[in-house]
Amino acid sequence: MKKRVAIVGAGLCGSLLSTLLRNDFKVTVVEQGRKKRPLFDDVDCATGELNTSINRAEGLGGTTNYWHNALIELDDHDLGKAGIEPRGFAPYYQQAWSFFLSDAELAECNRARDANRASLEHGASTVAHMVLPQARHNVWHLANARHPGDDIDVVYGHVEKIVPAASGTGGHVEVKGAKGERVARVEADYILVCGGGLGTPVVLARSLGQDSGLCAGYHDHPMAYVAKVKLRSDSRLKAVSCTATRSAEVRAGIVYETADLKTVVYLRPAIDMKLGSITGPARYILSDLRNDPFSPRKILRLLGNLEAVREAILFKTRSGFRGDYFSVLILGEQTPLKTRGVQLSPGQRPSLNWHVTADELRSYQHSVDEFFTEFAPDILDRKVLPATSWDFRNAAHHSGTASQFVAAPGDTSLAFFAVTDLPGSFVCDGSILRAAGIANSGLTLVALGYRLAELMRAMA
Ligand SMILES: Cc1cc2nc3c(=O)[nH]c(=O)nc-3n(C[C@H](O)[C@H](O)[C@H](O)COP(=O)(O)OP(=O)(O)OC[C@H]3O[C@@H](n4cnc5c(N)ncnc54)[C@H](O)[C@@H]3O)c2cc1C
Repeated sequence: MKKRVAIVGAGLCGSLLSTLLRNDFKVTVVEQGRKKRPLFDDVDCATGELNTSINRAEGLGGTTNYWHNALIELDDHDLGKAGIEPRGFAPYYQQAWSFFLSDAELAECNRARDANRASLEHGASTVAHMVLPQARHNVWHLANARHPGDDIDVVYGHVEKIVPAASGTGGHVEVKGAKGERVARVEADYILVCGGGLGTPVVLARSLGQDSGLCAGYHDHPMAYVAKVKLRSDSRLKAVSCTATRSAEVRAGIVYETADLKTVVYLRPAIDMKLGSITGPARYILSDLRNDPFSPRKILRLLGNLEAVREAILFKTRSGFRGDYFSVLILGEQTPLKTRGVQLSPGQRPSLNWHVTADELRSYQHSVDEFFTEFAPDILDRKVLPATSWDFRNAAHHSGTASQFVAAPGDTSLAFFAVTDLPGSFVCDGSILRAAGIANSGLTLVALGYRLAELMRAMA
């Protein structure tokens, strides 16, 4: 008889792992959402913009129901910070790329990457190579198409806690419904916790009887518009900002490192040098409309900022990359701090104290100055917002919050994923990433999923 695996959460990692393990184990996935739906009201955040835009979702596929599937690797330095030995990890990145793109598509993207690097990497910066496949994938559907096989049982409900295996009895997960009623008890030999960077620490803490306290180590890569520039019409920055292949877009971000924190600069097409489109609540119009297309308040807000609407169209249609005006968008790496994370308090919703620290802001500011120095010959005009008014938004790469529950072995052995005090339980999702630089973490999480599946199969 096959051993049983219960997976908490059918998001990016839970979807992939359930399909990778379906033929070797009897797999049950517990997903709290029956339908796809953004999550705005299960985690409070009084310190920063979190719930004003889609930042997570439930339903099969989890947050990938709404993501952009922009793919980017962590560089070796960031992998080292995350406790992942870079040399051993390359084959898993390869599998992750192949999950999204065919060999021919990948080769085309790699050619664009090499051209961008040859054009840009002569000074202080390096290139962040980001690939956006044109088809936006819900990973539940993509994983099932890529890895078909035996049935996966899906149980809908909220996992309250894990009860680990004890001598003579297997482990199980307690599943509750919307009103707190018990829906199921899923028995399993192994439990994989894939509830995401804000869901997983809550499940782990409660399973360990910790109803209060901070699950520390949270980091994201906050983003802010910081300037508008007018480029020389023959600037190389235009060519690298967006290259279209037959099946994907390739974007080069320009990366600087100050005080061991990375900042990446992306250029977005603009109409002119006016700052109105990159300040105020309409500045992230694309995400806001997807989030809440029928809200009269948001529509009014957007009508009050038609420049932002026009610039979003220039970006989406790619036509604006031929123009001379650009907005400067930065994303900054965050340090996993002992004081930043998911706070649990008895009888209350979990809360996140997300914010950008003064040290982080100083690092980003220095890197932005470096960008303006390095590319001064390309920039004919610039209007820079003072750093004190950079209006950061959370970029929804909720990471690092399981750090206190797992060991840090320095390689991706089973100990990397194992929950120290819950035998037979493993974590694979954003919460396990101790560092991610400025990379969108999805590709790395898929690579980690392939790695954990390989380790699990050896225990089937
Ligand atoms: C708008 C948006 C765009 C994004 N774009 C990109 C991008 O371009 N590239 C990229 O790499 N990343 C992107 N991200 C981030 C990316 O989607 C996440 O990093 C990724 O989905 C994280 O995967 P995960 O498995 O950790 O969690 P999720 O995909 O969030 O999945 C967690 C799942 O667990 C379920 N769950 C949680 N707790 C419980 C519980 N107690 N019981 C039962 N079920 C539970 C949730 O309902 C959810 O389905 C984006 C995010 C957003 C919001």
